[in-house]
Amino acid sequence: MPHIYDQDRFQTEPSAVLLDLDNTLYPFEPAHSAAESEVLAMAAQQMGLAVKHVRAAFSQARQDVKKRLGPVASSHNRLLYFSRGIESLGRKAQPLLALTLEQTYWNVFFQNIRLFDDVILFLTALKGSGIPICLVTDLTAEVQYRKILFLELENYFDYIVTSEDSGRDKPDPASFRLALELLQIPPERVWMIGDNPQTDIDGGRASGLTTLLKKNGPFMSASQAHLDFDRFADLHKFMRDRKWVLY
Ligand SMILES: [Mg+2]
Repeated sequence: MPHIYDQDRFQTEPSAVLLDLDNTLYPFEPAHSAAESEVLAMAAQQMGLAVKHVRAAFSQARQDVKKRLGPVASSHNRLLYFSRGIESLGRKAQPLLALTLEQTYWNVFFQNIRLFDDVILFLTALKGSGIPICLVTDLTAEVQYRKILFLELENYFDYIVTSEDSGRDKPDPASFRLALELLQIPPERVWMIGDNPQTDIDGGRASGLTTLLKKNGPFMSASQAHLDFDRFADLHKFMRDRKWVLY
């Protein structure tokens, strides 16, 4: 069952729910691993190089892009990682190859993307009880919208806020602020649900939200969440037992 760290925050139902996407509604790693393997094999074959050399170059390019851009949506753009990686291998700019690798990455990623258990149950219960839902996610809008379509989640959200919209990745307050502006409600009694203790939980707390940590994924560090849970079925039961959702 969910573990509650601050009872006062859970006296009534939420007035709205903000939701992270990656590693909160679906596991990132299986889809990413499949996509990355395919891209590295394709790039190595196209450039006549060993996979390990391409992997090292692309990994370094990713670190360089992230360091240069800082916490903004374009710092997650794989087209930039692949372009810089190809150039760093001495092959000059190759926009066709970079675009082909990027399209391949996402095609394989989307073929391997699966929701966590009971996400639909949870979202349906919120929607059926009139609780507004806003997705708050870091990355460019196009990629995140395509994930939503492949996950068949297009009918559940009242609003979608990406860090491309807000200008800054979480934990910066920009995305939380934009979500609250769109919902036209104050942060009290708004839940932020995410898997990342720093960006979702610390960031959400700093913006005055009630924070719920989905315990999974790569993040193991201590969290300041007001509540944490393992499975959406458990969070759904917690809400249904209190009659905050109708079914
Ligand atoms: Mg996440």
